[in-house]
Amino acid sequence: MRVGIGHDTHRLGAGGPLRLGGIDIPHDKHLLGHSDADVLLHAVIDALLGAAALGDVGQMFPDTEPVNCGRDSGEMLQAARDAVAAIGWRIVNIDCIVHAQRPRLLPHRQTMRLRIATLLGIDPECVGLKGKTAEGIGAIGQEEAVSAQCVALLAPREDDADNQSTNPYLVEP
Ligand SMILES: [Zn+2]
Repeated sequence: MRVGIGHDTHRLGAGGPLRLGGIDIPHDKHLLGHSDADVLLHAVIDALLGAAALGDVGQMFPDTEPVNCGRDSGEMLQAARDAVAAIGWRIVNIDCIVHAQRPRLLPHRQTMRLRIATLLGIDPECVGLKGKTAEGIGAIGQEEAVSAQCVALLAPREDDADNQSTNPYLVEP
């Protein structure tokens, strides 16, 4: 088994919607970044790559390359998933925390879990997701930024090439 940890922070700017966890949430602010700035998916990517010792999101998708400008982080997550699988690992589970003062994440949690599970090709029951405010303190509490953390557990793929084609959860979005 291998464990990995990921962390990311992005600044908030005026105007919605808020792209988070692979979905667009109605909100009066959005995250700023070179790609679509999905802070949660970036933390998941780093946890997966970290567990497999494959570097980090910045190495795999350099912000100096125009192709990564405005890039869909869901697509980036799938590339990370494939890179991890290619060297013989399968994802057992992930657990995530989003630190955001607003909006409340609870109403969107299930949709985000399902979206992430679909992107990773794992059971939604294997995607933990929690939201925390910062009690109004600091950059997150003042709604200047949102942070996310993720831990991921990997296990050796039992087999072979058959594994992916028979995985009932592996659905391309
Ligand atoms: Zn990021």
